[in-house]
Amino acid sequence: NGSDPPSMPWFGMDIGGTLSKLVYFEPKDIMQGESEEIDILKNIRKYLTKNSSYGKSGHRDTHLQMDNVVLRGLVGTIHFIRFPTSAMKNFLNLANQKGMAKLVTTVSATGGGAFKFEEDFKREVNMKLAKYDELEALLKGLIFIDKNSPTECYYWSNPTDDTKCAKVNYDFSKPYPFLLVNIGSGVSILSVKSATECKRVSGTSLGGGTFLGLCCLLTGCNTFEEAISLAADGDHTHVDKLVKDIYGGDYAKFGLPGDLVASSFGQMNSRDRRSKVSRQDLARATLVTITNNIGSIARMCAMQHSLERVVFIGNFLRVNPIAMKLLAYAMDYWSNGSMKALFLEHEGYFGAVGCLLQYHD
Ligand code: ADP
Repeated sequence: NGSDPPSMPWFGMDIGGTLSKLVYFEPKDIMQGESEEIDILKNIRKYLTKNSSYGKSGHRDTHLQMDNVVLRGLVGTIHFIRFPTSAMKNFLNLANQKGMAKLVTTVSATGGGAFKFEEDFKREVNMKLAKYDELEALLKGLIFIDKNSPTECYYWSNPTDDTKCAKVNYDFSKPYPFLLVNIGSGVSILSVKSATECKRVSGTSLGGGTFLGLCCLLTGCNTFEEAISLAADGDHTHVDKLVKDIYGGDYAKFGLPGDLVASSFGQMNSRDRRSKVSRQDLARATLVTITNNIGSIARMCAMQHSLERVVFIGNFLRVNPIAMKLLAYAMDYWSNGSMKALFLEHEGYFGAVGCLLQYHD
């Protein structure tokens, strides 16, 4: 029957190019049904909620957990879990071990991996993937989370002054229209007119995956966290060529300040400069290059579509205040204060939540 809620457990999945996002709804009330079913459900719940890391690569973002959420008339908690998409085999093994294959017949999923891994889900755990459109799921999830989490949306005040810079709560209750910039492995830019009207207007392949890939090549680091912490200690002006490196100062005629990057990595043609640069500097320059490029494309899209609010999401912004502050500054500066960069706490999970909200049998 199409109007019955799906059987427990309720999951939503977004299988991305780099990370798989899994959200799990844990109901408060005692579960009813056959006793073997309940035992398995309890086993799954215990496993998912008692740990915050699963094996080598799975991780639960406990700080994002949402309590007392109402879903299909039930009160419960939404848990947020991620693992590298490259570890999908382990995930499927685990799902088998925990008995999920016995209970779960269909999982709502989005992202490219919902297509790529469809056969593996069927073969390994006998699960069907109910596939949802990525953009629809993203928007649905975003609206739902914003409604249920009062401090979801924020901006950075004084983004260039570390002593004054702060996260400030932003009232996003009347959001439309806005530009949505999803920075994952690649970047998608959407113009959102209403809860149901949303169109992809642009994108770039120079995204979070590019940052991480280049950083690994240039610094020998191996993880995103490592790349970010290197960048935090680096100075991009050792790597980039600035306006003042070319002009000796500001380029007044065009209104370009001397500290502006004229050429990303533009100093690295010099052997002497290369010998003096640190891994930290290279990581920082990579972060600044990728982030400013995204900011610049986002600003042009916002201008073209006459949008003032630009919402940045995606896991590239995870533990990445440097990028957020750069985006905040760039949007404000280059639009003469007419555009605002906004951010959301559940940055990478909206697609998965959108799937959780979908109905399936
Ligand atoms: P996708 O759906 O394409 O996987 P995400 O929104 O999950 O996109 O973002 C992936 C990007 O997030 C990576 O390219 C990387 O820049 C960044 N990232 C943040 N945390 C991690 C992590 N733990 N492992 C790998 N990449 C991470």
